[in-house]
Amino acid sequence: MNASHMNQAVFLDRDGVINRIVYHQDLGIIDSPFTPSQFELLPDAVKSIQILNGLGLKTILISNQPGIAKGHFDYNTFLAIEEKMFKSLNQNKAKLDGVYYCFHHPEGRLKKYRKECDCRKPKAGLLIKASKDFNLDLKNSYLIGDGITDIQAGKSAGCITFLLGNHKCDLCRFLNEEKVKPDFVVPNLYQATKIIQKMVGFFTIKRGGKKCRSSSIRPMLQRSKRQ
Ligand SMILES: [Mg+2]
Ligand SMILES: [Zn+2]
Repeated sequence: MNASHMNQAVFLDRDGVINRIVYHQDLGIIDSPFTPSQFELLPDAVKSIQILNGLGLKTILISNQPGIAKGHFDYNTFLAIEEKMFKSLNQNKAKLDGVYYCFHHPEGRLKKYRKECDCRKPKAGLLIKASKDFNLDLKNSYLIGDGITDIQAGKSAGCITFLLGNHKCDLCRFLNEEKVKPDFVVPNLYQATKIIQKMVGFFTIKRGGKKCRSSSIRPMLQRSKRQ
């Protein structure tokens, strides 16, 4: 573990990044898992999180979970899903240092969670809260998500952003409309992790006792801008 990265984090979205999104046939929608049995880690989740842990980066889950507000499942079911996630990760020694959720939705059915909050992505509330809790340097932290709102939240917190682009071309039009551009578009969490591994490697090269972030990171960022 490298102590110099202790104030850097990788923020991970949950659904579509570490676990599969689910097609709910009865409702005709693609959404989060609504039951523990629907929760299934993606095949690269464990090894990716292990790499991030090994780099000494704080690995922090940042997730909108409006399913309770919308009446898809109750809080106990949410906890059971979360328990399954931790179990699947822990038994493989993949560690999440923190987990942050927004349970709100502006049109939620449950009054308790129906509100315009500051924590629902695209807002950066959860990232800011985590940065205070862990004393993080957000500008040298990373966010990996599969949705436009993830990228928006990451951008507004000043993080380096990765869009998982299975739907790259569908999303690109909306990204342009929203004028939000991820720093990297990659097919999966593992590919994002490999890039972060390289970038962290660059961070640790020291010239005259100073980290040389700007000179080393720029070429990589530019190379990624070819979408
Ligand atoms: Mg997602
Ligand atoms: Zn919220």
